[in-house]
Amino acid sequence: MDQSPPARLPDRGPRNQPPPSPVPDRGPLGQPPGSPGPSTDFLVPIVDSENAQFWEGTAIGELRMQSCSNCDRLRFPPRPMCPYCHSTRRSWKVMSGHATIWSFIVAHAPLPPAYAQMSPYNVIIVSLDEDPVLRMVSSLLDHPGGAVNEVNPATIQIGEPVKAVFCEQAGIWFPRFVRA
Ligand SMILES: [Zn+2]
Repeated sequence: MDQSPPARLPDRGPRNQPPPSPVPDRGPLGQPPGSPGPSTDFLVPIVDSENAQFWEGTAIGELRMQSCSNCDRLRFPPRPMCPYCHSTRRSWKVMSGHATIWSFIVAHAPLPPAYAQMSPYNVIIVSLDEDPVLRMVSSLLDHPGGAVNEVNPATIQIGEPVKAVFCEQAGIWFPRFVRA
């Protein structure tokens, strides 16, 4: 009879198994690590003290921009210091959500798996009506809640007016845009 103690772990051999994947830190608003489904593969923003109010706004349907309390200029992305007057006094203002398409691309494979299943899809850069230097990377949807691959990219025009809508993905409410 074999008197050796039972092995606690199977011998996988050094080359038979890939190392365990590192668990990404998705921030307090992100999906918990290990959640099932392909959405866990989406890249999600790291929410920190500087940008938290932006993401708290999108979760209630508001597009917020940081505003300098000294010179009143708006800025994006959020940061501690005003790029115009260097003041660190700042607050938040709610935007109209109206913007124009400043540029766009169509994303094709190779892409990370969660994105490849949606491709080809559009990625737009919009310029906000409140200040044209406020530019955001997003996607143009056919309708609020629509998929990012429903708009025919051949119909997208630089300069066309759009309006923000908000869509949940992986626990984060992302600003997207529809035609205004
Ligand atoms: Zn300023």
